[in-house]
Formats: sequence, C-alpha cells, structure tokens
Amino acid sequence: MAAMPGVPDPHPGDAQGPGHEPVAAEGGRPVYPDAARLAGIADQCVLCGLCLPVCPTYAVAREEGESPRGRIMLARALLRDEAAPSPALVGHLDSCLACRRCEAVCPAGVRYGSLIAGVRAMPALARRRPRWRRLMLRVLTRAPLRRWALAALPLLRPFRRLPAGAAPWRLRLGLLAGLPAPVPAAAPAPGPGAPADAAADTVLWPGCVAADWEQPLHRAARRLFRALGQPLAMAPALCCGNLALHDGLADEAARQAGALAGRLRASGVRRVLGTASGCQDRARRALAEAGIEVQELHVALAGHPALARLRFAPLPGRIAIHQPCSQRLLGPASHQAVLDLLGRIPGLVPVALPAADRCCGAAGSHFLAQPRQAVALRERVVLDIDAAQPDTVVSTNIGCRLMLARPRQDGRPTIEVVHPVELLARQLQT
Ligand code: SF4
Ligand code: SF4
Repeated sequence: MAAMPGVPDPHPGDAQGPGHEPVAAEGGRPVYPDAARLAGIADQCVLCGLCLPVCPTYAVAREEGESPRGRIMLARALLRDEAAPSPALVGHLDSCLACRRCEAVCPAGVRYGSLIAGVRAMPALARRRPRWRRLMLRVLTRAPLRRWALAALPLLRPFRRLPAGAAPWRLRLGLLAGLPAPVPAAAPAPGPGAPADAAADTVLWPGCVAADWEQPLHRAARRLFRALGQPLAMAPALCCGNLALHDGLADEAARQAGALAGRLRASGVRRVLGTASGCQDRARRALAEAGIEVQELHVALAGHPALARLRFAPLPGRIAIHQPCSQRLLGPASHQAVLDLLGRIPGLVPVALPAADRCCGAAGSHFLAQPRQAVALRERVVLDIDAAQPDTVVSTNIGCRLMLARPRQDGRPTIEVVHPVELLARQLQT
C-alpha cells in the first residue's frame, strides 16, 4: 500500500518480526544478526548535540545517558560488544519515549527510530527487563485478563496521590489508581468476535486497551457517520502489537499484528478507521500487507464529502489542543484535521498551549515502566494547561487523555480531555 498523504514513510528496517534471535558466530559467542546494520546507523551520529534541546527525557533528567546522543553512544557500545547490557545501560535505552523528536532535527540524518527499535529487540536486553513488564503486557493486551485487572482498580484508591520523591512502585500504584473507571460497552459489545457488521467494507477499529475507555467515542463516531449516511461497523478489539514493540518484543508484536490482519481480511474489510494516534503508524504497517488501508478516524471525518451538510450547535468555550507525540509523527494533515473539525463548531475559541506537542509521559505502557519520568513530564503539560485556562482539552490519543485527565493533586477539578470527534458529536444538531 502506498504511504498515506502527509505521513512520512516508515523506516523499513524497524524491528517488526522474527529474525532477532542471536546466532552463533565463530568462537561460539552469540551475535545479534542485525548488529552491523544498527551499528551503521549509530555510526552516522556526529555527536553535534543539536538533538539534546528537543528531547523530553533529557529536559527532565539533564543527563547525557537520557539524551539521544547518549543513547546512540550506549547502543553503539552494546552493538560492538564494547559494553555489557547492565541494568543502567538498559534503563537508559528503555526510558526513551520513541517520540523521534531527535530524528526530526538531526543534521546527519541518523535514523534514530530504527536504531532504538532494533536495539530494544535484542534478546540481551529482554533478559534484563523485569518479568512483571511481560506479565503486564499480557494483562493489557488480553481483554478478559485486562477487564479483571481493571475491575480491581478501585482497591488502589488509597494510593491515588503521587508523593514527590516516592519510590517507583508507589508511583506506579498511584498512576494506575488515577485511571478513570472503564466505560461499560453498550450491547452488543465489540469484543474479540466477528465485526458487528461482517459485510462492512469500512470499520471503526477500537484497538485493545483503548476499547475499554473509548465507548463514548465509538458511539459519537458512529452517530456522526450515521448522520453522514455511512453507518460504521465495529472491528474486533484486537491489538496491533504496538505495546509489545515498545517493550522490544518484536515476535510478539508480529504475532498480534498477524492475528488482527487475518481477522479483518477474513471479514472482507478494506478500510480501517483508528481512534488512537498512538497505534496508527503501527496498524498502518501491520495491515498494509493484507491490502487494508488505515486512516485516523478524525482525518476521515474531516475529509468526508458530506460533512458540510451537518449542522453543529454553538459552544462558547475555550478549547486547548494537545498534540500527542504519535500524532506529530503522522504529519501535519492529522493536526490540521483536528483544527478543521473544531472549526465547524460555532463560538468555540481555540487556545494555544505554550508547547502544544509536549510529551505527557504516557507513551504506551511507558508510564508504568518509568513512573518518575512520566510524572515529571505530565507535570510540565499540566502547567501549560493551567496557564492557558481552557474549558476543555482535546487530544487524539487515548493514552494522553487518560494521563492528563487523572485527578489533580491540589483538589482542583479534573481537566476534561476528550477526543475531538467526541466534542463534535456532542454539538451535532439532529
Ligand atoms: S543531532 Fe544527530 S548527529 Fe547530532 S548528536 Fe543528535 S543524533 Fe547525533
Ligand atoms: S526518541 Fe524522543 S525521548 Fe527518545 S531520545 Fe529521541 S527525543 Fe529523546
């Protein structure tokens, strides 16, 4: 499938499938088969440091190991067998948000995204990661396990505060305790069964984890598309493998992506509308081989030829737009579509955040792996929002919405953070 307009072509060498097992080299020492290619990417770095000011983790830690340049040096040493995968080294590589801001400003064209994805998939690193991370991934991406775990979240209520300087485990509990209760599905639930309308050509794909919180968004999207004369069926709530890829589990990510593609292809689906910008790039790659086009829900809606026929009630309010890291990677068309949709609501006043594309610290399951960093990053965005004083914030990524909408420490009302399509549907005049 050709690249979507406005979306940069992914690096074809990103770790996405099998082939990451060590092979025996001369002398019996295991060698990572991708090591030479990845070391070649790392060698392109000229150490200029121009990427440091744009890196969110460096801004928080002010430490070379938490910068793109530092990580490239660590990766190179690891790939050349000049450094062992110590807990500290693995920690620096794993704390990267994979936001690729560094790549965008690099004068030497270092393909940092490919490098970090490939290095994270090294078995030597996987062995150093705590086992609970793999367990957490299983729970998050399997609906029955996840729902069982989410049902237990109220038990964590006493840990909701995030005390400054608290231990990582305490912060993890606090971050989980701050998640809003999942929204029950309206019957029939879009579970891991056949699409609601098996004959559908275009379906709304709810992702995996997001499906438990985005029921209101699904209802909003289907209401708008019904009004446009194009009823939208639901795809099964299967994972595209993005969370596994974040954790360096390339084989698991490929297995999940294959299962999703197989189910959609068997149902005759040709176009998928995704609700979370965080999964968009991965889903696009995963479904391309199956000949299935992937588009962001709000981009499809903004470009719908019948949208001009709909009327929306005025909303005299200040709306701030948060731009997730993952949306920035999708190119300017995605952000422009948000502006176009909001522009259809009379009376709405868009307000600029001081840095609209600051990372909120969620980054997939990263907030649980690196809770201190996540809390610090979120605090910066919350300060931005407080300065802009909006009535509502819109964001196209579920992870960012959950992270930003958690209860305030100071007792002030929780910030409302919604998907732009949900806001638009609220104002639809029937
Ligand atoms: S901007 Fe590019 S070349 Fe310069 S230090 Fe960063 S990664 Fe290396
Ligand atoms: S991908 Fe983002 S977090 Fe990682 S090194 Fe680059 S700028 Fe920093």
